[in-house]
Amino acid sequence: MMAGHFDLIVVGAGSAGFSASITAAEQGAKVALVGEGTIGGTCVNVGCVPSKTMIRAMEAVHQARAAGRFAGIGGEVRVDDWQALVAQKDSLVDDLRQAKYIDLLPAYENVSYLNARAWFTDQGLVVEGADMRSDRIIVVTGSSQDVPHIPGMENIDYLTSTTALELAHLPSSLLIMGGGYIGCELAQIFARAGVAVTITCRHELLPEGEPEISAALATVFRDEGINVITGAAYRSAAMVDAQVALEIEADGKRTLLADRLLLATGRSANVAHLNLAAAGVGTNENGGITIDDRMRTSRPGVYAAGDVTGRDQFVYMAAYGGRIAASNALNGDSLVYDNSAMPAVTFSDPQVATVGLTEREARARGIDVKTSVLPLDAVPRALAARDTRGLIKLVADAQSDKLIGAHIMAPEGGDSIQTAALAIQQGMTTKALAAMIFPYLTTVEGLKLAAQTFDKDISKLSCCAG
Ligand SMILES: Cc1cc2nc3c(=O)[nH]c(=O)nc-3n(C[C@H](O)[C@H](O)[C@H](O)COP(=O)(O)OP(=O)(O)OC[C@H]3O[C@@H](n4cnc5c(N)ncnc54)[C@H](O)[C@@H]3O)c2cc1C
Repeated sequence: MMAGHFDLIVVGAGSAGFSASITAAEQGAKVALVGEGTIGGTCVNVGCVPSKTMIRAMEAVHQARAAGRFAGIGGEVRVDDWQALVAQKDSLVDDLRQAKYIDLLPAYENVSYLNARAWFTDQGLVVEGADMRSDRIIVVTGSSQDVPHIPGMENIDYLTSTTALELAHLPSSLLIMGGGYIGCELAQIFARAGVAVTITCRHELLPEGEPEISAALATVFRDEGINVITGAAYRSAAMVDAQVALEIEADGKRTLLADRLLLATGRSANVAHLNLAAAGVGTNENGGITIDDRMRTSRPGVYAAGDVTGRDQFVYMAAYGGRIAASNALNGDSLVYDNSAMPAVTFSDPQVATVGLTEREARARGIDVKTSVLPLDAVPRALAARDTRGLIKLVADAQSDKLIGAHIMAPEGGDSIQTAALAIQQGMTTKALAAMIFPYLTTVEGLKLAAQTFDKDISKLSCCAG
């Protein structure tokens, strides 16, 4: 039985848990890392890694099929063995879990790892099968798929992102509920694999982003044969002749039929087993643990980070939050969590990458806003690639000319967004961005062109945006 006093107990052995534990260990603290389930948590096991490798595989399929856009080239490709692809994905997951989690533990001698559940009582933290004590605790228990309250849902053997990526055989049709980034990514994976996909959402695809991008992504999806239904209200779900029947209202009542239903309606914080109320740890309207900007919960000595806080549910934010929580727990709460230049990427094809404020968010804050929208057919890279799907939208403060938001829908847009993140973090004006030297025939050059669009008609410019 693991027992004793620790400088810090970290509850949850995912990305935030590892980052918090390593930060604390580097400062010489004695740490207990307690995690239930598979070590490594969501990202490596069932999130980022498995989804992104499957997306890349299906991009390869798509690119071969789309090669015909270049004169004289024909391409044919097919998915021969889905099970082999899933097995290859699993082996990548195993390798990365081993290299980035399991193999790290021996390098940090002052971190003791225990695979166990933990929860609170009014006396403090209890760790299953152990007698551990500490004055400082970090809760990093992650999130899980939400199940929407729809009559009949209890009778459906629905898929989640986790089980969908484990399927040994492809269904012939798939209904995806939810137009957030996980729903969008999975829709393209399965559609490109040959499944008849319908994606339904209550608002638009990627509803928190820019409406121009939501509309453009819906067009891309429809062009690929994905049935996109926006503005849907869900009425009921049932099994009819071995198919899922989802009754919705979207331009009238309709029943959607498919072999399988995949829920991608959002993820909620893993707090059910924690008994937070007993410890006086408060939760927010998302069901996540409420924290302040130093990662402190409402109970002194208890911190939280990552998905369990119900916000910024990305792995790099989990790791960042875990680092801040550990430093603050040990060193007097001096560090502040700052997400003002947080990039976010949807790995659709083209990717959708955003940083900073949308136009709507900026206006809601009372900022005098100006925007520029550049279609990708104004970017030489896209013309050369004969792939002009996408656009770039910049949001700036009309008074100061400072860039406050950038939204890119472009192939590999996720790689271009970091330039905009740096510009926002450094308080750059759009004029300064427009005046910077960018390499010709890159996608990121579109940022310069979009910045120039605030003051110029860029169609009158020569090569290299000059
Ligand atoms: C399909 C999918 C794709 C994604 N793609 C990306 C991407 O491309 N990029 C990106 O940045 N993010 C992506 N994410 C999000 C990312 O995976 C998460 O934001 C991140 O993994 C959260 O890390 P965490 O440490 O907060 O939680 P987790 O990694 O979930 O770790 C929490 C751990 O705590 C354990 N636990 C729960 N309750 C208890 C308890 N009571 N006691 C002990 N242990 C407990 C859990 O079992 C789990 O192992 C994706 C997510 C999904 C689902």
